[in-house]
Amino acid sequence: MTASNTTVFFGAIVNPARRALEYLPQAAIGVREGEIVFFDRHAESASASAATHNIKNFDTVDLSKTTSFLFPGFIDTHIHAPQYPNSGIFGKTTLLDWLTTYTFPLESSLKDPKIAQDVYSRVVKKTLANGTTTAAYYATVHVESTKKLADICLSQGQRALVGRVCMDQNTPDYYRDASVEEAKKSDREVVEYIQSLNKPDRILPIITPRFAPSCTGEIMSWQGDYAQKNNLHIQTHISENKGEIAWVKELYPACKSYADTYHQHGLLTEKTLLAHAIYLTDEELNLVEQQKCGLSHCPISNSSLTSGEFHARKILDRNIPFGLGTDVSGGYAPSILSTARHGLLVSRHVAMKSENDADKLSVDEVLYLATLGGAEALKLDSKIGSFEVGKKFDAQQIDLETNGSPVDIFDWELPISEGNKLENLVHKWLFNGDDRNTSTVWVNGDKVVTK
Ligand SMILES: [Zn+2]
Repeated sequence: MTASNTTVFFGAIVNPARRALEYLPQAAIGVREGEIVFFDRHAESASASAATHNIKNFDTVDLSKTTSFLFPGFIDTHIHAPQYPNSGIFGKTTLLDWLTTYTFPLESSLKDPKIAQDVYSRVVKKTLANGTTTAAYYATVHVESTKKLADICLSQGQRALVGRVCMDQNTPDYYRDASVEEAKKSDREVVEYIQSLNKPDRILPIITPRFAPSCTGEIMSWQGDYAQKNNLHIQTHISENKGEIAWVKELYPACKSYADTYHQHGLLTEKTLLAHAIYLTDEELNLVEQQKCGLSHCPISNSSLTSGEFHARKILDRNIPFGLGTDVSGGYAPSILSTARHGLLVSRHVAMKSENDADKLSVDEVLYLATLGGAEALKLDSKIGSFEVGKKFDAQQIDLETNGSPVDIFDWELPISEGNKLENLVHKWLFNGDDRNTSTVWVNGDKVVTK
């Protein structure tokens, strides 16, 4: 295939639109140089669509005779790459003792470049195999290992935001930034390295104060200023656990709230992504909304560490953009599909307490949050998150009849093109599917996973 060639994807396509999914049993997408050049929501054939768009040279990926559909790649808005080996290991801990018992010892071991190479190669490979085409990663405090994570994302073809974790107080001596000056120097080094890769469409730096308790006011103010001057993304944690919230209040008594603590230090911008946000008050939500920040909802983590229940409907009603995060390894699964399923279930728990059916999230909504919602939270929705002309082609081919598939399909559920059969298959996929059903993954039009 020459660089100027177009590839036409023809078959069933499912596409997130505002808070819903379009189910298109017979559609066509044209991709050239990684970008979507046409999208026919109803198509007769690949060649008919190509002719309509005056395209003579093209390759075809024809899924129309299979049990497959195309879906946009998942966006993981919150994942700790170095914690991947601990997936599933959290016992009965809650946030603060989980950090000291399991997390800091493991993260500190990534100082060794060999361990970093092994862990980061595997987490990127595994998340890609699960259909994650974009991830917002926390690395560790270590500069060289963090650079390695960026290199690995680039070489395996995953789009990523990569952040060096900054923490200069209230963490063990064996694992922290030695001083404010050291933290600034390390942050600059990582940001400049990622910028020197010169692939702003693929790998972006993201300023990453771990969370307010582990950062001095001095470093947070510097990071806010540095991020704003250089137009960088910012990610951190907020309001995940009640003990954590009380601690922030104690450490920053002059700030009105947890959200205000970040605001006072210049860290709430429209490129800020705040993870968890379970207990934000209405006043804090007003501030987050006013500052145009995005949120990351991490339902598996919040259930595993018994942190609390995120009130998704309240956030949707406020039009604060949010997506889903695996939060590996507070969350045990590297899969956004599993995270979406659990997000749906957590919303049912919220509804059981509120006795309000409106609090339940639908299949369409959680799959929208898993893709376009994440892109909106990261302010990358003009480029990724759904299939639209001008956006990058980040996609996964879902097939419910692969080898060893956990899903059974019955004769009467096919063909996909009839009635609402496609919609039913998507519902079965959400609840019963896993990475075995993700048969091919493309990022920027390049095939990065084939099974
Ligand atoms: Zn986290």
